[in-house]
Amino acid sequence: MSRMIYMDNNATTRVAPEVVEVITPFFSEYYGNPSSMHTFGGTVGRKITEAREKTAALINANPEEIIFTSCGTESDSTAIWAALKANPQKRHIVTTRVEHPAVKNLCEHLEKTGYRVSWVPVDRKGRLDIDFLYDSLTDDTAIVSVMWANNESGVIFPAEQIARAAAERGIVFHTDAVQAVGKVPVDVKASPVNMLSLSGHKIHAPKGVAALYVKKGTKFSPFLIGGHQEKGRRGGTENVASIVGLGRAAELVATHLQDGTDRVRRLRDKLEAGILENIPNTLLNGDPDMRLPNTVSVSFEYVEGEAILLMMDQLGICASSGSACTSGTLEPSHVLRAMGVPFTAAHGSVRLSLSMYTTEQEVDFVIRELPPIIERLRRMSPFWKGASCNLQ
Ligand code: PLP
Repeated sequence: MSRMIYMDNNATTRVAPEVVEVITPFFSEYYGNPSSMHTFGGTVGRKITEAREKTAALINANPEEIIFTSCGTESDSTAIWAALKANPQKRHIVTTRVEHPAVKNLCEHLEKTGYRVSWVPVDRKGRLDIDFLYDSLTDDTAIVSVMWANNESGVIFPAEQIARAAAERGIVFHTDAVQAVGKVPVDVKASPVNMLSLSGHKIHAPKGVAALYVKKGTKFSPFLIGGHQEKGRRGGTENVASIVGLGRAAELVATHLQDGTDRVRRLRDKLEAGILENIPNTLLNGDPDMRLPNTVSVSFEYVEGEAILLMMDQLGICASSGSACTSGTLEPSHVLRAMGVPFTAAHGSVRLSLSMYTTEQEVDFVIRELPPIIERLRRMSPFWKGASCNLQ
């Protein structure tokens, strides 16, 4: 491929070369089963132990509190099912209107099977209605599951504060921190978070590996029942290469967390300012003060997000739109709808998400190329003409 500017890091990230280097021998040399009794298998098992220590260190957990899974979705499902099984008499779940489908669709499914779900709303800036959340907690609540940071708007939620409120009522708290880990400091010892999900492919490890943190003392039952792997908490032969890769990636992002984040934030701010200053009728989605440092979500009035993405794609720029395919039609995502992004703008939403590999030149390129794209599309839009008349 010729030029490629990758600004879709909330969807997935490039596997770091340092990670590729450490995982490669596991496809050729170290193919032993970590559960085998022989020395060959034992060597592989020790690599998993090291990866567990590194992954735990990233969130200040104890290694035995980390369970490796196949994806963030599995971690989320495992956490929610485990809490429900641990409290079979409780029939109420508290979550938010803006969770990733990994939590949202499971909770909708549970609602259909008889659980009561309180869906905490967000405001126009994507901030949680925290009073609604507190008022929702009852003696019947089995679990509160609130994401640490939103994948679309980038808004960061007060997960630690919510964990404390849940703990005071003896309620299990789970957080989907898939977008937060590696981008902002996450310390599971700073608050009584019971369970936390993270995913490898969002932090420069391969796809198909993730982890669930389960605080010592939290009642747990496995989602995948099988062999004795992961101390019986997740059956199935380990995805060794990817687990080793997750450990290395955890180490890398931990080292870069401060400077890397500052650099990414500066580039994101430059990109955001360049877009907002040069393109009229553009709305910023998400609380500017409490956002992931790598994410910018904007809505361009009177244009279609998909058309913008196609034109960006022709220039080699990868980004995401804020639409989701619902019953065969493209609709603004549940997150943008929950935030009340006006109809005229919601369809023209685009999310750009940066990483430690994003360069200043790439940011400058997007700042230069995006305004003419929007202008061209608006010229073709009958709604835009009306809008310019109104504006004059
Ligand atoms: N939770 C959030 C907030 C996400 O952004 C994602 C992936 O986009 C997931 C969960 C699911 O993670 P995975 O793709 O590893 O299943």
